[in-house]
Amino acid sequence: MNVLSLSQLPARSTVASRPALVGLTTVDLRALVESWGEPGYRADQIARWLYQRFVFEPGEMRDLPLRLRERLAAETDVRPLEPVTERATDGGLTHKALFRLPDAGQIESVLMRYPASDRSRARRTVCVSSQVGCAVGCPFCATGMLGLKRNLTAGEIVGQVLYFSRRLAEVEGEDARVTNVVLMGEGEPLANFRNVWQAVEILNAADAVGLGARRVTISTSGLAPRIRELAARPLQVGLAVSLHAPTDDLRDRLVPVNRKYKLAELVDACREYVAKTHRRVSFEYAMMRDVNDSLAQAHQVAGLLDGLLAHVNLIPLNHVDGSPFEPTPWPRIRAFQRAIQEHGISCTVRSERGDEISGACGQLHARIG
Ligand code: SAH
Ligand code: SF4
Repeated sequence: MNVLSLSQLPARSTVASRPALVGLTTVDLRALVESWGEPGYRADQIARWLYQRFVFEPGEMRDLPLRLRERLAAETDVRPLEPVTERATDGGLTHKALFRLPDAGQIESVLMRYPASDRSRARRTVCVSSQVGCAVGCPFCATGMLGLKRNLTAGEIVGQVLYFSRRLAEVEGEDARVTNVVLMGEGEPLANFRNVWQAVEILNAADAVGLGARRVTISTSGLAPRIRELAARPLQVGLAVSLHAPTDDLRDRLVPVNRKYKLAELVDACREYVAKTHRRVSFEYAMMRDVNDSLAQAHQVAGLLDGLLAHVNLIPLNHVDGSPFEPTPWPRIRAFQRAIQEHGISCTVRSERGDEISGACGQLHARIG
């Protein structure tokens, strides 16, 4: 008698085991449809639905033949990221969404809308997560306290932008588009380089989301070799480096990845980025009372960045439960800013958008379990 053991039985095709549609580049989509005997231009049609009209349900992709819609529904995973909650603050200008992942808890993303002013056009910036949790373990950061759960896929990273793109159309009308994406949510983007880069390509490609590369910014705790890799890529995305300390001693404690990549190596990698891209690097500096906020430290920061095309962005620290760090009082932040500016380095203080709903950077995940 021929008895099949359980392991020989064909696996049931669960939704999770099918390839996710969102997260495929148009090149991937073309390979998929062509492997099904469909003409390549179907890939462009699917990309338009997913990335420009934010329609994820194959049944609604009206210009596709029925057989292709059915096959997409049966053989790919078309589930979009669904929010568990969404909250608005700042008079409806800031929205924070919490998404549940089937296998790995939750991630958060924030949409910040900045109305047009005399000096600038309207901006709609989405702050996205790149990992669930983070392995770097900065002691002042809510995400760091979680440890790393897993990398997000390209589809999950792009999906956060698409979710808010769809919401914007509802809130502001069909023509409202996301104008900027910052990878400053949960996770260390450069520790998930492959998926982050695929997401960047989809965000940038004219036949996908179509956002200029200069409108995408990656924030890193300082993975120097990956900064060099980024510098060598043809798409020139913006770079923000979370500095937080001007000396190795202090940075070893505040940003533990510094134990591996010291400040000299980090600054050198930034020089390479500037030389290759001609773009300015933004250095983030979260102001912690009596830890990194003295005038002497401001002058050390300026010395460290001497000769580099740099901008310093001071961030008023958001207090995180369980963290011993306190925010620097406002007058001292201003004095620190002036000390840096005295050296001819541009320096701003980040506005605390989203703070009210703990949507501010570094607090993601802090308040909702
Ligand atoms: N892991 C990356 C990107 C995500 S963190 C990085 O560290 O750059 C985004 C920014 O928020 C970083 O500059 C980070 O240092 C900062 N941040 C983290 N916790 C914070 C807090 N409690 N208050 C203010 N900024 C914080
Ligand atoms: Fe990770 Fe960035 Fe938080 Fe540090 S600040 S723990 S690198 S998410």
